[in-house]
Amino acid sequence: MKKVWPIVLLIISVLIILVGILTYIFFMGDKKMDNTTINNEPTKEIIDNKPKEENNVDQLKKENYFIAKNLDRYLNYLKKHPEKDMTEIIRCVNANIDYEFYTNTVNSNTDDDILLIVNKYHRLSSNYVPKLVEMDDKYNYNKGYRMMHPTAYEHFKEMVDAAKKDGIVLYNVSAYRSYDTQYDLYNEYVKNHGKEAADTFSARPGYSEHQTGLTTDINTSSSKANFENSKEYAWLIENSYKYGFILRYPKDKEYLTGYKYEPWHYRYVGKDVAKYIYENDITYEEYYAYFIDNK
Ligand SMILES: [Zn+2]
Repeated sequence: MKKVWPIVLLIISVLIILVGILTYIFFMGDKKMDNTTINNEPTKEIIDNKPKEENNVDQLKKENYFIAKNLDRYLNYLKKHPEKDMTEIIRCVNANIDYEFYTNTVNSNTDDDILLIVNKYHRLSSNYVPKLVEMDDKYNYNKGYRMMHPTAYEHFKEMVDAAKKDGIVLYNVSAYRSYDTQYDLYNEYVKNHGKEAADTFSARPGYSEHQTGLTTDINTSSSKANFENSKEYAWLIENSYKYGFILRYPKDKEYLTGYKYEPWHYRYVGKDVAKYIYENDITYEEYYAYFIDNK
């Protein structure tokens, strides 16, 4: 019996070594196969079978104003609006219109100074008052709303003087409006037209761009004036950006800005930004989302 033990031990040792060798070959072989797969280009079949969402992501990423943090919102909005192309999906979500107006609202970042955004998703507090100067009579019509942000005013004067040389008379009828003023205005509109209608042309208090002091209604603030047919309007459309002002609520962008076309309402954003917006035909919502908020 004593002689059997070394043989049994030998057999066990050989078996253990064999199992070890087989296991090694098995796993290393697998790894080698993996490597070959990774090194190979994916076959056409794999590309064709790529999930639809993955294709959408690829397409979205190629768009000009793609913002990485908005990806889930783009995909959700695309699901709801499969008829829209990718450019339009990006445009809408960047302007926040995948959210209902006055929902998902945040405080405006007042550190943005002349690039401050105020709209149906960005609000100012009731006690926010910007730097203001009083406009000279020469540049102003309405004695009630003649306060303006000093930088905006400086360039407003420059624009009015330049227009004058071309035989065009421009003047401010409404620049800065306080929270309380907007409160009264809005509620008056609601009383006369109902809330739904009022929301299309008047801002709720705290959501009015006029509270920034960077905005001016030029020559009129009424659609009855048909300002869009005037030579003053034609001049502004052609030239206002040269002085840092943009048409804030354009005709074909009502669905993005949330406001009816206002041919008289101009917003100071500085000359470089105004030029970019003019040349690229985008709204301030889109500009702000991509160039300022996207940091
Ligand atoms: Zn206005």
